[in-house]
Amino acid sequence: MSRLKRYYVEINDSYDILKTNDDFLEYIGSKKVDNIESIIQSHDFLTLKDALPSLKPSENTFVCFRMYDKNDKANWMSVKVHRSKHKTSLIRLDIYDLQTLEMNISEGYYDEMTGVLSKGAITDYAKKLMEQTPSKQFYFFIMDIDNFKSINDTYGHMKGDEIIIEVANIANECVADKGLVGRIGGDEFVIVLEKIHEEPELRDVLRDIRYNVREKYIDENNNFTITVSLGGGLFPDQASNYEDMFKLADKMLYIAKAKGRDRYIIYTPSIHGNLKNDTEVVTISRRTKRNQAKNTFIMDIMANFLLKDSISVNEAFRKVIETYMLDEVFLISKKTGKTIFGLTSNGDNCELDISYLSPEDYQPFFEVYPLRVVNLYDLQKANYLKFSELMLSKGFRIIIVYYMRNDPDGKYLLYVSNVDSACRFAETDLSDLIYFSKMLELSERL
Ligand code: GH3
Ligand code: MG
Repeated sequence: MSRLKRYYVEINDSYDILKTNDDFLEYIGSKKVDNIESIIQSHDFLTLKDALPSLKPSENTFVCFRMYDKNDKANWMSVKVHRSKHKTSLIRLDIYDLQTLEMNISEGYYDEMTGVLSKGAITDYAKKLMEQTPSKQFYFFIMDIDNFKSINDTYGHMKGDEIIIEVANIANECVADKGLVGRIGGDEFVIVLEKIHEEPELRDVLRDIRYNVREKYIDENNNFTITVSLGGGLFPDQASNYEDMFKLADKMLYIAKAKGRDRYIIYTPSIHGNLKNDTEVVTISRRTKRNQAKNTFIMDIMANFLLKDSISVNEAFRKVIETYMLDEVFLISKKTGKTIFGLTSNGDNCELDISYLSPEDYQPFFEVYPLRVVNLYDLQKANYLKFSELMLSKGFRIIIVYYMRNDPDGKYLLYVSNVDSACRFAETDLSDLIYFSKMLELSERL
């Protein structure tokens, strides 16, 4: 597959060149060019000259001109002209070499609908980068539009297409000369940030994509109607080949979705654990299945547990563990600090003893209404060292605590996710767990 030729040039309103990419320098060869006018065919230059004065900040316009190469041959270019939003004297020229563009279009290099790279092209590009020796660091991300099915349902498929195209454009603009964007499926994109090796720079690009999408589709009530989620990490530090890198990015994307969407997650070993040994990858179809299970969970359990009395406490806990991918559930007596009931994801009984701790080691964060998500990081920061030691020794990553304050003696319900777990909580999951806990409390069957 031939390599796409795309030149980036930043200029000011006097056409002085401020910045370029390497492909541009290669194109002009040894010529010293300070002002873009000198290498544009004089007649064609008028199109750019006419376009600039009326171009407003953050707006784009398109022009065509012939640009002289190192052998003084004038080749046709298709140029997207963009004026910076914040630095309004800065104009970015995104110059496509039409010769290579034509070649690439006929070879299926581009995704027809959006104009970003096709799945084959972006995969090929990423794989080639990964095969370089010595290997070079770069960031690899997957981006997915949030709740796109309901966007299609609400606004229709045509509007859906328009949104996919616009999101692709925004990602392309934000990535600029730092890498490439490709569409790998309906509302899913791969972003390869070849030129980015440092996290602050990465965050700038990811934040720009997220904000620009949100801003583009803000409604009259200031709600963000379209958002995207992104997940990824650094090659080759965190994966040694394309397949592993893709799995890692997919997993981070899943976490971004589970945490409530409209965010990016950069893989960080100290937070996400060692994924290299983690064979379980949550695929999109599994996600969908699980989401469906979650949707019906509360209704089913209410009907069977409260109204029909047809399932036991044990069975109800087993279902909650399975649906939310939990590792353990404990019911602990406030009075004794001992386990009244404990169940693991294997269906075994288990125990957790907090009686050796003083109430001040856990009560301030256990007795929070309506529910408290306890994680190691926050505990250590707030100096709850005894409890964080307990979490570390047990391998707990997150505990969700519900305090049964209406119970005469008081009880704590603990939903546990371990450090090696694929479980990630979305905000809706937490409200499900609140309902579930309240229902157990009301039933007085514990
Ligand atoms: P999530 O936030 O979890 O990503 O939810 P979602 O609804 O976006 O779920 P998912 O990404 O799995 O769904 C993508 C949907 O995109 C499924 C399909 O109906 C729709 N789709 C796929 N290709 C196209 C397309 O070319 N045009 C339009 N309009 N819709 C498409
Ligand atoms: Mg989606």
